[in-house]
Amino acid sequence: MKSHPDSPPIPSDTDQTQPRHEMHNRWPQAESVEDFRHNLAAVQARINSACLRAGRDPAEVRLLPVSKTIDEAHIRLAHRAGCTMLGENKVQEAWSKSQAMADLTDLKWSVIGHLQTNKAKRVARFASEFQALDSLHTAQALDRHLQAEGRSLDVFVQVNTSNEQSKYGLSPHDVAAFMQDIQGLDTLRIRGLMTLAEFSSDADRVRACFVRLRTLRDRLGDARELALSMGMSGDFEIAIEEGASVVRVGQAIFGARSLPDDHFWPTEK
Ligand SMILES: *Cc1c(COP(=O)(O)O)cnc(C)c1O
Repeated sequence: MKSHPDSPPIPSDTDQTQPRHEMHNRWPQAESVEDFRHNLAAVQARINSACLRAGRDPAEVRLLPVSKTIDEAHIRLAHRAGCTMLGENKVQEAWSKSQAMADLTDLKWSVIGHLQTNKAKRVARFASEFQALDSLHTAQALDRHLQAEGRSLDVFVQVNTSNEQSKYGLSPHDVAAFMQDIQGLDTLRIRGLMTLAEFSSDADRVRACFVRLRTLRDRLGDARELALSMGMSGDFEIAIEEGASVVRVGQAIFGARSLPDDHFWPTEK
């Protein structure tokens, strides 16, 4: 049975985990450290029960809070509630925030959005992690600037698992060759693969994207365990059931964003 997009997603007769995109205008804004503690605990509880369903250890899943569009005051509250690494979609925004909050010495930044090569220098300077690598040119630029900075960077290769849905990310067919190409870039520590699922209330279509990423990882037959970064506020439980090792969660922690998602992930070709 498929539930109608407007009907409550859980429970369903099939016990199939449903996406929760209908919540996207409804996540309440977190305004205090207590709110953040509460939201983080609620998300962690959802992670734990997804792991339980899938027979997985919750310690295998890292929660990356995503703070794009959130102002400094609220980020400081989230930090006090225990967030020590934050995902940001845009380099300029991430950089400004990292400068403004340089006093929080344990706070690290993960850039999770598309990177233009001309911004590689900036990322090399402040980011701890970059999850949207999808071009050799950018990888080489990052490596050059990281060498100059004497730094290294954890990277995830972004894969387009939903075909026409996003213009970013490598086609699954190109990933194996790309991994070979970036192998020699010593400052880049290849940690895993990242994807955005199709934004759909159809659980099967969402799940298919996550299955594609896991299948690809398994096919790469890499001796290094490659992590899978997949799942956000509306679909991270499905991602965990399909093997996610990192879930990137913004709105369920910080509150609903007013800007539509395609502002952040242009869908036009
Ligand atoms: C914004 C964003 C997320 C988090 O989305 P939410 O709906 O806020 O949980 C995850 N991944 C990427 C790449 C994003 O830009």
